[in-house]
Amino acid sequence: MNKLSEILNAPAEACAADGERAFELIRELYPICRSITGDGVRATLGRIGERIPLSTFEVASGTTAYDWTVPKEWNIRAAYIRNARGQKIVDFADNNLHVVNYSTPVNRRMSLEELRPHLYASSEHPDWIPYRTSYYRETWGFCLTQRQLDALEEGEYEVVIDSQLEPGNLTYAECVIPGTSSREMLLFTHCCHPSTCNDNLTGLAVTTLLAERLLKCEHRLTYRVVFAPATIGSITWLSRNEANLHRIEYGLVLGLLGDSAPLQFKRSRRGSTPIDQVAEYVLRGQYPDARLVDFSPYGYDERQFCSPGIDLPLGRLTRSSNGEYAEYHSSADNLEFIRASALGESLRAILQIIATADSNQRYLNLQPKCEPRLGKYGLYRPTGGSGPNRFEYALFWILNQSDGEHSLLDIARRSGIPHGELAEAAAALEQAGLLRAAED
Ligand code: ZN
Repeated sequence: MNKLSEILNAPAEACAADGERAFELIRELYPICRSITGDGVRATLGRIGERIPLSTFEVASGTTAYDWTVPKEWNIRAAYIRNARGQKIVDFADNNLHVVNYSTPVNRRMSLEELRPHLYASSEHPDWIPYRTSYYRETWGFCLTQRQLDALEEGEYEVVIDSQLEPGNLTYAECVIPGTSSREMLLFTHCCHPSTCNDNLTGLAVTTLLAERLLKCEHRLTYRVVFAPATIGSITWLSRNEANLHRIEYGLVLGLLGDSAPLQFKRSRRGSTPIDQVAEYVLRGQYPDARLVDFSPYGYDERQFCSPGIDLPLGRLTRSSNGEYAEYHSSADNLEFIRASALGESLRAILQIIATADSNQRYLNLQPKCEPRLGKYGLYRPTGGSGPNRFEYALFWILNQSDGEHSLLDIARRSGIPHGELAEAAAALEQAGLLRAAED
């Protein structure tokens, strides 16, 4: 088994093939009509479950989660608008964004005047279908391009939405990947959007590939990967897992990972937790264009994880942020909008953040009185005279700073030696019996 920390010293192209694989998974999941509940979510989690072991949870409609209630379950088979000549002028079968997500069933004839209040288009982008939802207000509607809307003639229309909105379940899934420690890193991504790519298929695909990698390597932390609908999903998950939140040492909300904007890390509510320190170290050191932004109580599910009564050490990694690009929540957030190379780079950056966190321990020097004789342990060159090489330099720094107070990241920042090199040196010192972890 590989060590997770190997990614820290791997070349930049190490995740290029994974970027292509993430893109293929997105292509596979793209046609499925997802929502915050229903069979689209189950089908999506089913496909992901073919790649990584998933435990799926079903939470009944009406279940209370803090101030919220799990809604009715929504499923849809078909929807269309047919004009007086019998032509389908808007059809869910062409693009599932055509129906307002969570629309109640309809099947009747009506005038254009009656239909019009139920139609949504974007005059700014006349060729795009907007993505609209009506989760918490029972109504129905269609989304169409401005050109389709402008072309509608007076007359009678047949309007059909073959949907069901009935008591059922909310579905979410977890993949737990145990490490040598019970301390956890939470990786959360939302799974509730229909055919839109950057938001949220890139999050689903990159998170799936991350889990695949973590399953194949040795690591310290236990990784808890959660796929759940946005907002109600994270709220429901939190309400059912509150007793275990104390185990979470690091957390990341992941999404919007395939567009061409530079990487962006949004800090936790407290702003100085371990994930803030690790993400800043990795991004500042390796991704000069990356943006680091402070917490704000709007965005994705960090809103719930960083609410004051939860307050987890959790940040958010995206490229663009929500609402920051024109194609957001429209049919233009499609397969053409995202890039495999951006997915690969996102995956690599997240793996580096994870690997840095995973090896970011405090250690105790077991020979703290004067320097140990490294040659005795096979850790120092037999011939003297020249100065220490990089590896030896790393050994000296770790031994000097390992009094149980300084983490490997503290030592990296103080010494200027890359965290990955320190992690290798620490492993060698542990092997030689000169060092042990101060935690756990
Ligand atoms: Zn969204």
